[in-house]
Amino acid sequence: MSEKSERAARIAELRPGYQADIAAGPDGFFEPRRTTCPWCGSARLTLRLRTTDLLQHKPGRFVLDRCEDCGHTFQNPRLNERGLEFYYRDFYDGLGEKKLGDTFGSRTAMYRGRAESMLAHDPAPKTWLDVGTGHGHFCATARDVLPHTAFDGLDFTDGAELAEREGRVERGYRGDFPGLAPELAGRYDVVSMFHYLEHSTDPDRELRAAHETVRPGGHLLVEVPDPESRYARLLGRWWLPWLQPQHLHFVPVANLRARLRELGFTVVAEQHAEPHDPVDLLAAVWLALDHAAPRDDAPWLPGPPNAARRALRAALLIAGIPALVAGTLLDRFAVRPLSRRLGVSNAYRIVARRD
Ligand SMILES: [Zn+2]
Repeated sequence: MSEKSERAARIAELRPGYQADIAAGPDGFFEPRRTTCPWCGSARLTLRLRTTDLLQHKPGRFVLDRCEDCGHTFQNPRLNERGLEFYYRDFYDGLGEKKLGDTFGSRTAMYRGRAESMLAHDPAPKTWLDVGTGHGHFCATARDVLPHTAFDGLDFTDGAELAEREGRVERGYRGDFPGLAPELAGRYDVVSMFHYLEHSTDPDRELRAAHETVRPGGHLLVEVPDPESRYARLLGRWWLPWLQPQHLHFVPVANLRARLRELGFTVVAEQHAEPHDPVDLLAAVWLALDHAAPRDDAPWLPGPPNAARRALRAALLIAGIPALVAGTLLDRFAVRPLSRRLGVSNAYRIVARRD
């Protein structure tokens, strides 16, 4: 069977399960709406963004609220366990695995930069735990920068086991980080969380687990999307890092610094330009085009698109190529060198030493 017809068969096979979940209704996917900020408890919440799933186009509407007192931005109402399972299904694994494997697999320079950000603080850590390691691609690349470091990875998906089998990590822990933290207590020179905290239902619990697993004098490395990026406002719902409905919490850098200090860390570095991933304009053009075009086939749609809709989709995407190219060029050559000065960096990185 060709790759294309294999995919069509896989979609047809998954469709009944998805259709049953959708029929049961999106109401069962959410926790009750919060009236207070999960970070500081304030009741002064305002609407920040209304959007839909722009990546997979699964049905559903999502709202982000912002706390007027501390600036914390969060999904409200938040997906519950059932909802998270529904929206993560076939994204990093299953139907989405190959596509994402290719995307993540080719990001070597970014992974090297992440590993190098540790050199000034500890040039030769012996042990490193990467939390939210996915399929372990960061660890595999980081070994070139830090050849004497033993990298372990932790993920709540079977990616952790896959990473161990493929030799990308020494140990792959599968499960919930706070649940595993007691068994890993004080064991690591470095714990990293790259684009992990925003996926967590309770970031504070994750930070406490990090404090437990880093040895005294060791380091915690956190990188998250920056909700204060100017792009977040300029691009609105087309700003890729909103990544609804997966990103549940957006922590302003001042909040994270303060919380780390309270937990018993000293913040030794804060970076904005380095973790900026120059894809905002390209991604925004792509998301808008993909949104405007007829949908590609997917098991959460009632049925496969007909030939006319397929042709229209192909024509629209081809028509969009010049805009995609312009977006890429602007991202890489016009905006990137100025990202800090323009305030558009889409992420920040913190290095903190456990006291
Ligand atoms: Zn707050």
